[in-house]
Formats: sequence, C-alpha cells, structure tokens
Amino acid sequence: MKKFLKGLLSVLMVISFTACAKTNDSSEAEGLYKAGTYTGSAQGNNGEVKVEVILSSDKIESVKVTEHKETAGISDAAIAEIPTAIVENQSLNVDTVAGATNTSNAILDAVKAALTEAGVDIETLMKGGNGAVVSVTLEDQTYDVVVLGAGGAGLSAAIEAKAAGASVIVIEKMPYAGGNTLLSYAELACPNNWLQKEQGIEDSVEQFAKEMWEGGGSLAKKELVDIIANNATDAAEWLRDEIGVEYQDYLVWEGGHSVARAVEPIELGPGMINPLMDYAKSHGIEVLLNTKAEEFVVDNNGRVIGVKVSQGDQTATISATNGVVLATGGFGANVEMREKYNTRWETLDESVKTTNSPAIVGDGIIMAEKIGANLIGMEHIQLYPFNNPITGVFYGIEAPSWSGEGLIYVNKDGNRFVNEVGMRDERAEGILAQGGTVYAIYNQAVADRLNLEEKFADEYARCLEDGVFYKADTLEEVAEHFGINGENLVETMKKYNEGITNNTDEFGRVTSMVTMEEGPWFILEGVVSVHHTMGGVEINENAQVLDIEGNIIPGLYAAGEVTGGIHGNNRVGTCAIADITVFGRIAGRSAAASK
Ligand code: ADP
Repeated sequence: MKKFLKGLLSVLMVISFTACAKTNDSSEAEGLYKAGTYTGSAQGNNGEVKVEVILSSDKIESVKVTEHKETAGISDAAIAEIPTAIVENQSLNVDTVAGATNTSNAILDAVKAALTEAGVDIETLMKGGNGAVVSVTLEDQTYDVVVLGAGGAGLSAAIEAKAAGASVIVIEKMPYAGGNTLLSYAELACPNNWLQKEQGIEDSVEQFAKEMWEGGGSLAKKELVDIIANNATDAAEWLRDEIGVEYQDYLVWEGGHSVARAVEPIELGPGMINPLMDYAKSHGIEVLLNTKAEEFVVDNNGRVIGVKVSQGDQTATISATNGVVLATGGFGANVEMREKYNTRWETLDESVKTTNSPAIVGDGIIMAEKIGANLIGMEHIQLYPFNNPITGVFYGIEAPSWSGEGLIYVNKDGNRFVNEVGMRDERAEGILAQGGTVYAIYNQAVADRLNLEEKFADEYARCLEDGVFYKADTLEEVAEHFGINGENLVETMKKYNEGITNNTDEFGRVTSMVTMEEGPWFILEGVVSVHHTMGGVEINENAQVLDIEGNIIPGLYAAGEVTGGIHGNNRVGTCAIADITVFGRIAGRSAAASK
C-alpha cells in the first residue's frame, strides 16, 4: 500500500475517563433516571473525546460528541453512529464501528462516565439492545458495473465507468470509504508534472518506468509498468482538474526515484478520497457501505455476472450486466496470509505490526482465486522501514526521509547502517539486521525547513508522551535518553557530514545530500511494519483478470493493491497511487465497455 498517513491509526488507547454534571435540573424527580444534562470524557486515539448526554426521567434523550481530535474520515462513522445507536437501543450494548474501534470505545466510555455521574446503573444498561448498527435493507439489484471496494482504485473505476454511460454501484464493507488510500499520504509519482516543469526538473516517462521496474527487482510485467508511467501524469491532472483534489506546491522525493516527481494532496489521503467520494455521489454512483462482497456469481460460460454480498445477517445478489471490478486492496492486515506467502522475511506473524487498515485482509484475492484467477507475486510483501513502535504506523515526523532532506538512522551503538533514503526493502533489511529497533535523528534546521513542528505539533506531543520521541540541545543528550552510545553518535554525525560534503557517503547516499551541523536534535524510535502486498490477481493491459492458464475471465476486472505483477518484489514509494488511479480508471472503462 501507499505510504500511509503516518500516525493515523494509533491503536494504543489507555482508557481514563472523567465526568461532570453540567445541569441536573430535576434531581428530586422519581423515575429511571435523574433527568438532566451530563458530560463525560475518555481518551481516544488523538486526545480526549467529550460527550453530552441528556436524560429524561425514563429515557436517554440524546447523546452528542461535543469535542474530539479523532482523525477525519476514519472516525466519522463512529462519531455519527455510536451516539445514535445508544439512543435507538437505549443501551450501551452497541457494536463498535469496524475500523474505528478505539474511537467507538472512547465514545462509549465517555457516555459511561456521564451516566455514572448521573447515578445510572451501567451494568444494566450494558445488557439491553441488540448492538446492531445497520444502514440499509439489502435487496437483489442489477447494475451495468459493480465495483468492489471504495478505495482509490474502486472509486476511480466507478467514476470512469459512470462517465462511459454505465449504471454503477460500489460495494464497501467498512462503514466509511477509503481503505488504505485514506490512510496514505496519497502521493502520486508522475513524470513531467506541473511542479517539475515550474521547478525546471527534467524527467521522462521512460526514466520513471525504468526506475519503477528496476526498483521492483525487474520482476514486474513491464507492459503494465509502462502503462502506469505513460498515464500517471494524466491521472494526476484528472484528480486535480476533474475530481477537485488540491495539491501542495512542493514535490515529494521517495527512495528509488532519481528526481523529485511525486505530487501530494494538501489534505493527504482524505484529500484524495473525500473529493472522489463527493464526485461519485454527485454523479449518480451508488456507494453501499457496511456491505461485504462474499463471492462471485459465475454463469455456465464462466462469465462473472455478479456478486453475493452480506450485511450482518442479510444477504443479497448484486448482478452486473457488463462487468465486476475487483478493488478490495491487498492482505497486509491478514497475519495468516502473510505467514502463508512470505518467503523473504524471518517472520511476519502478529509480532510485526501493520500500517494497513484492518479491512485489508485479502478478501478479493481469496474470492478471485476460488473462481480460477491466477495469483502472482504473492511472496512479495513490503515492510515499511520506520514506524512508531507502539502503533506500527509510520510517523509524519519522519518526513525528512521522503522530502529530499537530511536524517540518519542509528543503532544502539550510535552507528549508521544503511542509506536512509534508499529503497524501502534495503532499509527494512538493514533495520531488521540491527535487531528491529533503531533511531532516526535530524536537527532543528531540517525540521524548520519542512515546518515540521507546526505541521505535526500533535504528533510530536503524543510521541513525547508515549516515550518514542525526544528533543534536546546536544547529540549526547538525545543518545542518553534512549541508551545509545553518545560518543559514537557524535562521531557518526561528523562522518556523515563529511561524506555528504565530499559526495562519498559510506552507505552510497546520492540524494538528500543535506548536512546536519547544529542542534537542537530530534530523535525517534522506529520499527518495521507490514505495508504493501505486491502480489495479487494477475491482470492484462485492459485490467481484465487472467486465469491460471492465462485466459481472460470474462466479466471480471481488477485494479489496485488486489492485483499482482505490477511492483515486482518492492513497490517504489509513491508508485501505488499512480498504479491505483491509472488502473482503476482503465478497469472502470473496460468494464463499462464490456458486454
Ligand atoms: P486500493 O489502494 O487498491 O484502492 P484500498 O485499500 O485503498 O485499496 O481500498 C480497498 C477497499 O476495499 C477498502 O475500502 C476495503 O474496506 C474494501 N474491501 C475490502 N474487502 C472488501 C469486501 N470483501 N467487500 C467490500 N469491500 C471490501
């Protein structure tokens, strides 16, 4: 998957709640409750979640989230659905919203705190209700094109299929759209883009194709890589001009690219998914949330003609007259599949965290394999090298490693061990060879040039509290904080600066040639996490799915991380958004044109 929105899915939540009664206007009244307005709070992912609960003498009249810092997009469904479910069920026994468990629990705990203050017997309230948070009554339906998964690939496919005149429905199993795309920075590599032209950066389609292909160990299907290289800039302009994605005025430079060539939405992943969703809905595309694709419906000729879906206990068949587009993402959050296919890393069991959405468990790959689709490159699983050890998600505050800036990684001995701005797989290998936990260090000048302290103020504060980040005036102090050999660290930084100045970096660094002379110094602790699964369903140039004999499976198209053969054994940073947008659009057009 794309480089994810560092710090987004922080999974650690220490529950502490507080409550107070704002008003308690009829404390003398007889009844189930003491009528009044009560407030409570609990710790969510990014800070306190505060609620207001209004009780009448016999009912929970309303529950409102009044304040929170939860991540937009991911937490929206929990914030909308949990309070409604509590009131509808008159119970605290409501399901948490999948993918937003921490936020759901924080709301529930805040409500419990408020109700405790009101003298309510929480145990009793926990027993009532059916716990269901259901959005629609499912029924059999028919569309020209049925898209499975509302991530970047699925929404791009849906929009293009609709533009080609097809009726379109998108089936999404989560209560919100976006998948891993939402969690990513949505940076899109595209040669000769508008920012490169403004900045006088020379680039070419061929150079991009070569770097993407070679970055994947020259193992990908070259014709698919060429399609991405040829169409990436058009895709970025489509997102900008047609869909309304707003881009930063700077370029992102990930390891594996010889020049800075990726554009980044101002609002990162949500800045891509929200405009795509708005566009889809305003152009007459149905998006059915909370609904899981279970299996394909195939006719006697082997053509895919629909999909069976479920929502809780309900099931239905959604038929496709033209085609089904599979865009359900990879399998980074499926530990069993990781273990089954991994051949490269010592282990990918649950001890290795993931940057992925919990929804990304390979559903579409399993469904496609069942009807004979060929799977390729399944053993190629990418580890994102440097992530928050508590959450497993990457840091926004590690931005110097993809911004053409300075940053070094050191081990406990205070020594460097790898090119910190090189390929992800080499960096991950280097980090694992140090025992798995390493440290990233940069200085104030680097932070200032990237405006990090303003941009990531919350993340710095959270990480400081969690003990995974520290800042101090001297290298010795930051070293001491994490038990690193300080003397060596000073020597390491000296050597690094010399290497950069003389263009003789000991780890072969040739980009991000930035020296770091003076403090204050920033230090982060990091571990590897499962990030992108390069393997998946094999497709051809038209995004048609191929079977194990290389024949086209009629009626079935696929795009995005669910596909294999595009990124070889290592997906170069910022190439995933190019892939999902280019092939999403192709899949949508192909499906619409098919009969
Ligand atoms: P890509 O980058 O390829 O677009 P994403 O991870 O962004 O992939 O999106 C994949 C989407 O597919 C996610 O929103 C995920 O919740 C959804 N999804 C995964 N499995 C299913 C399924 N069985 N049915 C419906 N949607 C699914």
